[in-house]
Amino acid sequence: MSLSDMNSLLVAARSKGYAVGAFTVWDMESVQAVVGAAESLNLPVITQVGPWEADFAGMELLADIAKHVALRASVPVALHLDHGENFERAMRAIHCGFTSVMIDVSDLPFRENVALTREVVKCAHAAGVTAEGEIGVVGGGIHSAESSGEQPAMTEPEEAERFVKETGVDALAVAIGNAHGFYKAAPRLDFRRLTEIAERVPVPIVLHGGTGIPDEAIREAIKHGIAKINICTQFVAAFGKAFQEVQTEPDFAYNIPNLFTEPRRRAKQLVAEKIGLFGPRLPRRTMRSSPPEV
Ligand SMILES: [Zn+2]
Repeated sequence: MSLSDMNSLLVAARSKGYAVGAFTVWDMESVQAVVGAAESLNLPVITQVGPWEADFAGMELLADIAKHVALRASVPVALHLDHGENFERAMRAIHCGFTSVMIDVSDLPFRENVALTREVVKCAHAAGVTAEGEIGVVGGGIHSAESSGEQPAMTEPEEAERFVKETGVDALAVAIGNAHGFYKAAPRLDFRRLTEIAERVPVPIVLHGGTGIPDEAIREAIKHGIAKINICTQFVAAFGKAFQEVQTEPDFAYNIPNLFTEPRRRAKQLVAEKIGLFGPRLPRRTMRSSPPEV
């Protein structure tokens, strides 16, 4: 289909009451797993890259891999910068051909967060790229092993409304009890807060920390205005656990198909489960008779 910006995917999602999955990618296999799963369900998807993945793989190389796969996909695929930590990172992503960027300076005071986010939004829009901002601080640290469950700062609905108006962001990440990494105990999302935010904020709302949020809470969050759900840790873990397991098989021989096929299949399966849960409730979802083998 095409490489898509996020507005094309998320505005429809919010208005029709479903969410689009966004998965962290860092190499060819992770991109193929995400896009292959989306194709098998005929649903749109977001591949996203955070600062760690960009520094690990090289932002340009990663963008080229993701774009190559997206441009040949049978479904719309967005390429998004996750948690861009400064202006330069966001500009570099735009330069590399990302179709969407997040600027996350939510730990700064409100005024400074607004000023920097607005600047990024202005440049992104000039390049035909969409932008996500964050108000309130999602807990857990982007790459923590386990969420402590602590909430540094929940999103205040009134601030969220002002933030969106003053910055012009296309999508808004909120802190409503969600956190990054595996949760120690099932998270309790504040749906009342989310409802108030959704009443004041017209743009699609983003739920970070999708790893480990129970299906029922995910459905409820989507009902209350969430249109994009980020999954990182659980997706990385699907690869990691499968890598471990295949190597313990009797007479395991080290070659590329033996080592990489099962982890990619397992990760693809996880993505398919998640986007099936998030996606539109179609009377009958179009399934390909034989999903592409990735
Ligand atoms: Zn996040």
